[in-house]
Order: sequence, then C-alpha cells, then structure tokens
Amino acid sequence: MSELTHRAPEYIRAIAPYQPGKPTSELARELNLDPAGIVKLASNENPLGMSPKARAAVEKALDELALYPDGNGFELKSKIASKFGVGLDQIVLGNGSNDVLELIARAFLQAGDSSVYSQYAFAVYPLAVQAVGATGIQVRAVDYGHDLVAMREAIRPDTKIVWIANPNNPTGTLARPGDLLEFLELCPPNVLVVLDEAYTEYLPAEKRSDSILWLKQFPNLVVVRTFSKAYGLAGLRVGFALARPEVADLLNRVRQPFNVNSLALAAATAALDDLDFLRETVAVNKAGMMQLVAAFQRLEVPFIQSHGNFIAFHVGDAQLMNRFMLERGVIVRPLGGYNLPNTLRVSIGTEAENARFIAVLEEALAG
Ligand SMILES: *Cc1c(COP(=O)(O)O)cnc(C)c1O
Repeated sequence: MSELTHRAPEYIRAIAPYQPGKPTSELARELNLDPAGIVKLASNENPLGMSPKARAAVEKALDELALYPDGNGFELKSKIASKFGVGLDQIVLGNGSNDVLELIARAFLQAGDSSVYSQYAFAVYPLAVQAVGATGIQVRAVDYGHDLVAMREAIRPDTKIVWIANPNNPTGTLARPGDLLEFLELCPPNVLVVLDEAYTEYLPAEKRSDSILWLKQFPNLVVVRTFSKAYGLAGLRVGFALARPEVADLLNRVRQPFNVNSLALAAATAALDDLDFLRETVAVNKAGMMQLVAAFQRLEVPFIQSHGNFIAFHVGDAQLMNRFMLERGVIVRPLGGYNLPNTLRVSIGTEAENARFIAVLEEALAG
C-alpha cells in the first residue's frame, strides 16, 4: 500500500467492494460468445424491459438533456405523493435506492455508532455502514430470513439504524406484517428503522405490509422503494425514500443537488402511471416462479422459498455450477459474498429464459 492510499481511513481500505451481476457484454468478451444468445438472470432485472409509457417519456425528455434536471424532482414527487398519500416534504429521491440507503447512513451515522442488519441481508447495508466508519452488527438469520426479535435485542445504546429488507435479497424471505408491526412498536423511537421494500410490487395484497400508513404512527420509520425491479428502470437509476418531513429534510441535505437525472425523472413519473405494465410484470413473475419451482422440485434441487423476482438455490459446488452455466451463456449470481458458498441466485426471466436456465441446470446435474 502506498503512502498516499494509506492515509485513507482504515475502514475505507477494509471495504470489500460490492460484486454486481456479470454484465452480458463482459461474458461475451471473456468467452467469445454471441451476446444475443446470452441469458442474464443475475441482477433481478425486469425481463419485460421497461414500460412503453416510460420509454415514450424518455424519448420526449431527450430534447432537454442540455439542461440540468429539476433538482427537486417536482413532477415525480407530485406523482409519488398522490399515489402513496404522502406529502412532498416526505419524499427523498435517489440515484437508485442504493443512493437513498447511503444518504440515510451518511445523515445518521458516524464513527462510534452502530447499525443492525440481518445475516444474508442485502449487501449494501454493511457497505453503507462501513463507508461512514460506523460499526455493523450482524444478527444471525433464521431460515435465511430476518430474526426480528433477535434484531431488536441486538440494538445497543449506540445503535442508530436498523435495516430490514422485505422481501430480502438475495434470499427472498418475507417478514409477516404483524411481526414487522411488533418490531416497530417495541423498537426504541430514537432508532431509525429502514424498511427496504424493493420487491413489494411482486407481493400479493395480503402479504404486503401497510408500511406507508405506518409512517403516521412511527416517526422513526423510513420506507425505501425502487424503480429498478418491477418498474424495469434499473439502468436509469432511480429510487426513493418516504419518511417524516424532519427525517426527509435531513436526507435531502446530504443529497447531491442533481442526484437523479432528467431521463430517470421522466421515466419514473410515467412508469408510476403504467399499471398495465406493472400487472403484466407481476403475472410473468408469478408464472416464472411456478416454472422454476416446479423444475427445482423435479430435479430435487433445494431452494429457498422466495417472495421476490428471484430464487436462491443450493448446489454442491456453486463455483463449478456457475462456471458451467456461464460457458453455456447463462448468467446467475453466486452468493459466496454472502457467505453462502453453495448457493446461487437466479432471477426470474421470461418463460423462454427460464427454460434455458432449467435446461442448463439439468445438463449440469446429469453430467
Ligand atoms: C435491487 C435492490 C435495491 C435496489 O437498488 P437500486 O439502487 O434502486 O437499483 C434495493 N434494495 C434491495 C434489497 C434490492 O434487492
């Protein structure tokens, strides 16, 4: 390590970078494959692409790209406010919800503080905590999901944030609304509870929490949503947090003035109106879930029951399986970084994409 880089704080130098799903173009280059023949089921993206309404909005917004975006995101916020029944002053927009998660960490944590998350929870939480020099408290999972009672008990006087992914990525586990409510009721009111609902659109109504209504009752609650999954806008990077105005105000202070770009603002605003696309997305996901579950059962591959748009499944040697799949143009996500070295995660694709994945899985298991 050079004298220069050594001056970066130790907690920064210790960060293990986030490992994203392998891009199609990278695999094509590495293995000399035709990109058109590659199936990417590694990043929980929407296999239907983006909503046609969002696409039209992007095309229209191209004319104004020489101008800075609306730093307050007025139109998108207005749409979110009316759709979710919150005030404009309760909304924080982010360059993806990752950005929002980092804003939360930056606004509330410093060295000497701690923050609680579950084992196998979304990898961005420990990263965001570590990047500001705070201490992560990882609570052992139960059946790959959040142990909300143990997480509550893990809260210390120096704990300022608890992170909950519901459904969780990469395991797909879901907390019951009643358990979440109890958690909120018993959590000290001076501890922020971040409820990350990146996959909530995929849930049937009876499994969904009334999280946005809970904002009225719990001033320490922050609900985080994204346009990257069901809305199909992962490449544009846009997500948001809903919180009480005084919390939203703090988050907005540490936000870059133009953190969400014009195309993303336009697309997200239009996407919120495209209920047909959302319905189609959810229907395709449900069918794909059944297709993949049936295959795992038939092939006797153990998997974790999922409530998202992906499934984690266990194989003897995940590295080997992953390699086998990559060589056949199927990209899934190894979960070694989550300390699940025998587990892979496959995103639910179109029927044809799922069939490709199943065929390659079957071939691997036979050989
Ligand atoms: C995909 C995902 C996000 C969304 O990330 P973006 O930055 O909005 O693309 C957030 N939380 C979880 C748990 C996710 O799986």
